[in-house]
Amino acid sequence: MSKAKRLILILGDQLDLQSAALRDFSLETDVIIMIESANEAQYVWSHKAKIALFLSAMRHFAKALQDLKYPLIYIKESNLSITDALREFIQKNGPQQLVCIEPGEYRLKIAIEKMAQELGLHLDMREDNHFYCTHQEFAQWVANKKELRLEYFYRLMRKTHRILVDADGNPEGGQWNFDQDNRKPYSKKGPGIIDKPLSFAHDAITKEVLDYVGKTYAEHPGSLNAFDWPVTREQALEALDYFVEYRLRNFGVYQDAMWTDTPFGWHSILSSSMNLKLLNPREVVDAVLRAWKKYSLDLSTVEGFIRQILGWREFVRGMYYLDMPQMAKDNHYKHINKLPSWYWSGKTDMACMKDAIGQTLQYGYAHHIQRLMVTGNFALLAEVLPSEVCDWYLAIYVDAIEWVELPNTAGMALFANGGRFTSKPYIASGAYIKRMSNYCNDCKYKPDVRFGESACPVTTLYWNFLIKHRDQFEASPRTRLMTANLKRISDEDQKEITIHAKKILNNLDAI
Ligand SMILES: Cc1cc2nc3c(=O)[nH]c(=O)nc-3n(C[C@H](O)[C@H](O)[C@H](O)COP(=O)(O)OP(=O)(O)OC[C@H]3O[C@@H](n4cnc5c(N)ncnc54)[C@H](O)[C@@H]3O)c2cc1C
Ligand code: SF4
Repeated sequence: MSKAKRLILILGDQLDLQSAALRDFSLETDVIIMIESANEAQYVWSHKAKIALFLSAMRHFAKALQDLKYPLIYIKESNLSITDALREFIQKNGPQQLVCIEPGEYRLKIAIEKMAQELGLHLDMREDNHFYCTHQEFAQWVANKKELRLEYFYRLMRKTHRILVDADGNPEGGQWNFDQDNRKPYSKKGPGIIDKPLSFAHDAITKEVLDYVGKTYAEHPGSLNAFDWPVTREQALEALDYFVEYRLRNFGVYQDAMWTDTPFGWHSILSSSMNLKLLNPREVVDAVLRAWKKYSLDLSTVEGFIRQILGWREFVRGMYYLDMPQMAKDNHYKHINKLPSWYWSGKTDMACMKDAIGQTLQYGYAHHIQRLMVTGNFALLAEVLPSEVCDWYLAIYVDAIEWVELPNTAGMALFANGGRFTSKPYIASGAYIKRMSNYCNDCKYKPDVRFGESACPVTTLYWNFLIKHRDQFEASPRTRLMTANLKRISDEDQKEITIHAKKILNNLDAI
């Protein structure tokens, strides 16, 4: 190492040989460093599968680098934080420059910048090339906008990248958005046969990691029994091929549907591969466009899927870097409740929460509507402190990295930033969960009962939330309609709802 002038840092979610950090790599002057840091697994109480996925993918990537004869320092199982391990290494070996990609967590970005400054080290922090939209382009789009809304940003992305537009820049199929075709529940009889996601046998590296994580992080939440995530680029590409061939066709229509023991539905399960950079989103979008023609898929499913990646994924990333560090502090409703303890165990009588959290603990996965309208909706209605909720999401999902987790949780699910990029809070009563799933069929509670012993806690807290914030909702044309149904509930019943809600809120652990 003594000869190396440039140290190239590769973080656990930057595992791509085409990474901008390696674009001018020189065997003469450069060496790569990768660090396994226990701190990263512990600063939130991470799911075992999330720790295992990162470690296995990192070790596989290190092997790929070594096979290609890149000089690599791999620090295994360090008890230090990434920056402390880095500082120690730099102080011993004295490189003149540190090259890295902007971390996906603001905290780490600031820590690396601070460390480099303290050490008087030249830092070349490059923008991640795994996104369609650069920070500069996003800032340009934001400038002079009165309202920051996904829809307009998404249209711009479609036009700029010429995706699903005709030669004149008009949307394919005559409309930008087919969302109204994509919100169906499964049939009353259930989802029928769903092609299972692809499975990946554990090789020696993954087996070693699973063993290590099982022992070292035994107290952490979640299970390793169902660990089946792509851990290499080759596996991620296989998962992508499989998805577009077998599962994409039904993605759109059942995107919002939920059913017990159906953890993945028709979803792609590609987020962890994209977030670790085993896959580039451009490859995913291109594969979907090819499949559209090859398998004569509905435009609505293709557009619906592409909107998630070209639209939402890019949009929340832009918002994260624009609004941090404020985004992590926002608490629009001034909520202060603790997260119910059963978020970590799934031990609750609420069938919807039990299922969504149960599968989360098993796989480290739940699909978007489960995250938004089951666990997220409840946390908002239960008035939980946003930072507690965000820490849970960051810890518990294998695809959770703060740039994507925080805007989704704080911004979208909890309305913690007061609607900076959403028009109204995403809240729903048990009636929505009943419509979109079979959860209520075997639940102790009744979705349409608003107060009393058998009342559904989601329903009680939903009406309580509307009663509490009625004036605020009625003051804005964007939310005025939300309280319209309150008029059908008598004053007496509204009082009962408030009393029952108070009981629930005072003892959230008990439901
Ligand atoms: C409260 C909450 C927390 C979330 N936390 C995360 C997170 O930590 N990491 C994460 O990747 N996604 C997060 N999401 C977004 C979304 O739920 C997941 O991307 C999706 O469930 C991953 O499963 P999938 O790959 O099967 O996605 P699919 O449903 O198959 O969608 C395809 C892809 O679109 C992208 N996508 C879809 N919705 C979003 C979105 N809202 N924001 C960004 N990308 C999106 C993902 O890359 C996903 O892989 C969160 C959503 C909510 C409501
Ligand atoms: S009745 Fe309420 S708590 Fe039970 S599953 Fe339905 S929505 Fe969830």
